Amino acid sequence: MNALNTERPTVPSTALPPVLQVQGLSKRFHPSLPPVVDQVSFAVGPSEVFALLGPSGCGKTTTLRLIAGFERANQGQVWIAGREVTRCPVEQRGIGFVFQDYALFPHLSVYDNVAFGLRHLRGRARKERVEEVLGLVGLTVFKDRKPGELSGGQQQRVALARAIAPGPKVVLLDEPFSSLDAALRQATRDEVRALLKQAGIGAVLVTHDQEEALSFADRLAVMRAGRLEQIGTPEEVYHRPRTPFVAQFLGRTNLIPGEAKGLEAETPLGRIALVEEAHGPVLLSLRPEGLGLAAPLKHLPQLEATVLTREFKGHDLTYRVRLGERELLVQESPESPFRPGERVRLVVRARAVVVGRNK
Ligand code: ATP
Repeated sequence: MNALNTERPTVPSTALPPVLQVQGLSKRFHPSLPPVVDQVSFAVGPSEVFALLGPSGCGKTTTLRLIAGFERANQGQVWIAGREVTRCPVEQRGIGFVFQDYALFPHLSVYDNVAFGLRHLRGRARKERVEEVLGLVGLTVFKDRKPGELSGGQQQRVALARAIAPGPKVVLLDEPFSSLDAALRQATRDEVRALLKQAGIGAVLVTHDQEEALSFADRLAVMRAGRLEQIGTPEEVYHRPRTPFVAQFLGRTNLIPGEAKGLEAETPLGRIALVEEAHGPVLLSLRPEGLGLAAPLKHLPQLEATVLTREFKGHDLTYRVRLGERELLVQESPESPFRPGERVRLVVRARAVVVGRNK
């Protein structure tokens, strides 16, 4: 199967021209090794938050560095606000960056860190812009502090303020929330998203955190081994994964072989409904929440399974069950009573998604 889904939309749904467009971008660090970025294409609309999601080492940061101009692409083009910048130096691209470690100057105050990117402005214009941006990120009262005297979330906001102060059309965010603790991460994410929307700036976020990409981005691309496997809204990519990798990377799933006949497929779980029409041998994804468990019926044909494990998580509960030779994950409500070793009836509650051909 071709990993690249060329029929998937690579452009935002807005009618306005993209602020960032990447076309066929490739990067190879060594001639004898495969490319770490391989024919990557996508576009980001004005004020759109786009995420590049993938496992460690798949090429996310390299893609960002190619867009920023820190690395030279072997192939492909980058356009910012309609201008081709593929060969432009970093400082002429009109891009802001926020790095994982914030990269703030420790010896400079918050004010001077933000003013640093505004060397092209003088006197009053510079002062006004710094104050405007500090107001936007809610840091005016901290303007004289050094970064070391701020919390992680506040430092993050200084980094964002510095990135957006020169008025870029696009900001690149490389794992910017990963050094924050869980509670602060969620709050900072919400704030940063709101600030980007308010400032009308397009953004590309690099992350390996599925939940972060799903909750932060308007659209996301799932990357694997240098290639984009799928681009879409969080809902599309979660509910309509196009490959087994995307299905498994965005949460847990059950991969089930079947023989598709239109909107149904014959599977080891019986005949199940499909989200989209298909024909022939297929591989299906059925999320744990698409399956349920019930008490077995007496003397009636049914899908009888055995509970292997029960993982209580407060808001829900995940069972691992055995059905014949197959193990399946089933998500149930926290009150569900079954215990390991019990015989149960497996119920299919949702339609399955075709994620590939079953060879
Ligand atoms: P992570 O989430 O761990 O940061 P990533 O998806 O951002 O990973 P990259 O940092 O883009 O991945 O790296 C992709 C691959 O390219 C890795 O195998 C990495 O070792 C390799 N790589 C990155 N930079 C260089 C370089 N300058 N020279 C040689 N190889 C490199």
